[in-house]
Amino acid sequence: MSRILVAGELNADLILSGLPSLPVIGRELIGSGFAMALGSSSAITAARMAALGADDPEYAVDFVGLIGDDDIGRFVLDQLHHFGVHTDAVQVVGTPTGVTIALTYARDRALLTYPGTIAVFDGQGITQEQLRRYTHLHVGSFFLQTALQPQLAAIFKMAREAGLTTSLDVGWDPAERWMGNPYLAPALAQTSDFLPNEDETAALAATPEALKQLVGGTLVVKRGAQGASAYTDSGGASTETRVPAFPVTPVDTTGAGDAFNAGYIYALHIRGESMASALRFAAACGAQATQHVGGATAAPGEYMIHELITEWERQI
Ligand code: ADP
Repeated sequence: MSRILVAGELNADLILSGLPSLPVIGRELIGSGFAMALGSSSAITAARMAALGADDPEYAVDFVGLIGDDDIGRFVLDQLHHFGVHTDAVQVVGTPTGVTIALTYARDRALLTYPGTIAVFDGQGITQEQLRRYTHLHVGSFFLQTALQPQLAAIFKMAREAGLTTSLDVGWDPAERWMGNPYLAPALAQTSDFLPNEDETAALAATPEALKQLVGGTLVVKRGAQGASAYTDSGGASTETRVPAFPVTPVDTTGAGDAFNAGYIYALHIRGESMASALRFAAACGAQATQHVGGATAAPGEYMIHELITEWERQI
């Protein structure tokens, strides 16, 4: 049985699209589209991982985290169930559930976040006995999870000692401290797969090779329309495995990185694929995510991703 635990933040995304320009103080802009969708990097990654293996009775994805006693919290829980994520370990607390307002444009997005429960979850209740039920532990949005940060290295260490692989995504650092955050380096040393995007990589270190030195396992850099690269150790030197992006015209890039994470973890750690093949599968998941508004909307099964790969490879 392959069971993944995702420990982390939960919130909803309120997504506005079709805006004529960037917002201006004192003016109102009219958008042409609106959707409320499951938000937060960890939750979108969990939903997508669950959907990829939905047909496999020997596979499950569980979530541990916090929501508030409010409509946003109930919406988030409902969405996780919809995608097949188990939520027995999600607790309801007195703080409101977090929310992100996403203003999406063709090439990128502006995000406004109220953290709510995101900044309250500290992972203190996670035990090694609990971790032994899983094969992999994933955590997203390191920089937003301020209460979890001091605990993360110890939780990852406990997970690795219990035989799990660990993966981490960071997101943008609102404090702009990056490696100056004292909790990041100890957590990276316990990380099997570190999954930042290109901008985050540049903010964290002078080069990907320098950042790789800090990671216990593999560094994967997501490069948007340029695809992705994995940096692994071989014979003391770091080796780069690169995959190009698939030829798509994006509708909304929200959650492409989380969809990529889900595809990468699923292909590498659940299906046991090679690094090159896992990256290709992950890039296809990322490209598929850009075709829909919202991070987890239309989360596909593994079979559909393989069909898309075949279709896109015919176009290259
Ligand atoms: P993030 O969402 O974390 O910033 P990226 O924008 O790099 O991450 O997207 C993650 C992955 O999704 C990329 O590595 C790529 O494989 C795929 N992807 C993202 N944008 C595009 C695009 N415009 N065309 C094709 N693939 C894309």
